[in-house]
Amino acid sequence: MSGLPQGLREKCGVVGVSLADRQAARPLYYALYALQHRGQESAGIVTHDGFQQHDHVELGLVGDAFTEADLDGLAGRVGIGHVRYPTEGGLDSSCAQPFSVSFKSGSLGLSHNGNLVNADEIREELAGLGHAFTSDGDTEVIAHDLARNLLEADLVRAVKRTMNRIHGSYSLTITHDDTVLGVRDPEGNRPLCIGKLDDGYILASESAAIDVLDGELIRDVNPGELVVLQEDGEGFDSYQLFTPENTAHCFFEHVYFARPDSAIDGKLVYDVRRDLGRKLWEESGIETDVVMPVPDSGRAFASGYAEAAQEEGADVEFAEGLMKNRYVGRTFIMPTQDARERAVRLKLNPIRDVVEGKTVTVIDDSIVRGTTSTQLVQLLRDVGAEAVHMRIGAPPIIAPCYMGIDMATREELIAADQTTEEICEEIAADSLAYLSIDAIAETLDESESDLCLGCVTGEYPYDIEGEETDRDVERPVIGDPAPADD
Ligand code: AMP
Repeated sequence: MSGLPQGLREKCGVVGVSLADRQAARPLYYALYALQHRGQESAGIVTHDGFQQHDHVELGLVGDAFTEADLDGLAGRVGIGHVRYPTEGGLDSSCAQPFSVSFKSGSLGLSHNGNLVNADEIREELAGLGHAFTSDGDTEVIAHDLARNLLEADLVRAVKRTMNRIHGSYSLTITHDDTVLGVRDPEGNRPLCIGKLDDGYILASESAAIDVLDGELIRDVNPGELVVLQEDGEGFDSYQLFTPENTAHCFFEHVYFARPDSAIDGKLVYDVRRDLGRKLWEESGIETDVVMPVPDSGRAFASGYAEAAQEEGADVEFAEGLMKNRYVGRTFIMPTQDARERAVRLKLNPIRDVVEGKTVTVIDDSIVRGTTSTQLVQLLRDVGAEAVHMRIGAPPIIAPCYMGIDMATREELIAADQTTEEICEEIAADSLAYLSIDAIAETLDESESDLCLGCVTGEYPYDIEGEETDRDVERPVIGDPAPADD
C-alpha cells in the first residue's frame, strides 16, 4: 500500500527457488510454512515451467491455501512464494501475492516484503502512460515499472532502473519467465538471504525457511544487491546495483518479528534476544522471587535476563508462569479494544503455584498499545502475585512503522505521549523499565545511523510525508521511466 496513512501493513514473507530437476512447488510450500509467522492472511506460489507461468494464491494459512492438486498444478523447477500479514479491518484479496502478470516483455511474478513511500507517484505516472492497475498495492506498481523497463533494457538494467525510481523498503523475490531474482532495497530494511539446497538455490526472508529444506545458509543478500539464480539450479550471479552510505536495518525484526532460529544480517535472532535480555538486567534489573517471560515473544529475553541476574548472584528463579493457548489468533489485529482484551485473557493463563505469594518480573519484547501488559499485571495479581515488575526488551514505541511492520496508529500507542512513569501507572505495575536504544545498537553491533529506529525515535531513514527523517535522503524524481544513466 502507499499514500501512507498511519500504520501500514505489509509485513510479509517471501521466498524463491531454482532447482536442477524437481518441481519447485513443494519446496516453496514448505518454505512458506517456515515463514508463516510473517503473514497469515494469504499464501501464494507462482512457478514457471519454461513455457508458461502457473499461480495459486489463496486467502488463509499456508496449510489451508493449497491442496495436493493445487501443488501438482504448479509445474516448473523455478518459482516464488509469499505469505501476507493480516490487514486490520478484513481481508483484501486484491493485495494477496505473488502478483503475477504477462507483459510483452514476458511473464512476471513478484513477492514483496516492505513498503514503498512513493508508489502513488509512480502509479499515477504509469496509469497516465496507459498501464491498467488492478489493486492499490505497491507490488503491482513495481511489476508494471519493471515490465516497462524490460521492453528497453536487459534484466539487470531493467531492475536497476526500477530500483532508481522506487523509494522505500523492499525485499523482493521475482520470476521473470523461468529466471528467479532476489532484490533487497539499498538500505536493507527488510531481511533476505540466499541458501544452497542439494539440487539448487533458494532466496528467503529468513534462514529458517532454508533450514526446513535441509539447505545451508550462504549469506544475506546485501542491501542494494540483485541476485539472479541460474536456471539450471547450478549457482547464482550477484550484481551490487547500489551501495548505500548507510543501511536502515529494522531492529524490530530482531526484537519481535523474525523467528529466533533465523539468522538475520549475520546474527542469530535467538542470541540477539538473549543478549538484549542480559542488557535489560544490566540497565534495570530488579531482584524478585521469579522471572517469567510472556510467551512466546519474551522467552529468549527472559532467559538472558535471568541468566545475567543469576551470574551476579541474584536469588531469582526463572519460571514459566504464563501458559499460552496456541489456538488463539493474533490479539494484535482484533478490531476493537474489547476484543483484544478478551483475546489476551483467552491466550494467556497464569500458573497459580508459580506466582502466588511471590514477587515477579515479567519480561516481554515490546509494549505497543499496552493491552497485554495491563491485562497481565491484573491477572498475576488476581492469582496472588505480591508485586509485578515489567521489563521490556525494546525502547518505548512512540511512532508508527511505515516500513512494513504492523503497528498501531500513533493515537493508539501507549508510549506516544506518556512517560514511562505514566505508563507504569496506567498498566498498574509496581515498576516498569524499557531497554535503551544504545543497548539495541550495541547488541546488533551497528551504529544507530545504520538502523531503522523510526518507531522508537519518530525519525525515519526515508522521506515520509508528514514525518521527520533522521538522514539526508532524496526521493527519486519521478517522470522518466527509463533513465539513460544506467
Ligand atoms: P500490546 O498488547 O498492544 O501492548 O502489544 C504488545 C504485545 O504484542 C507484545 O506481547 C508483543 O510481543 C506483541 N507485538 C508487538 N509488536 C507486534 C506486531 N507488530 N504484531 C503483533 N504483535 C506484536
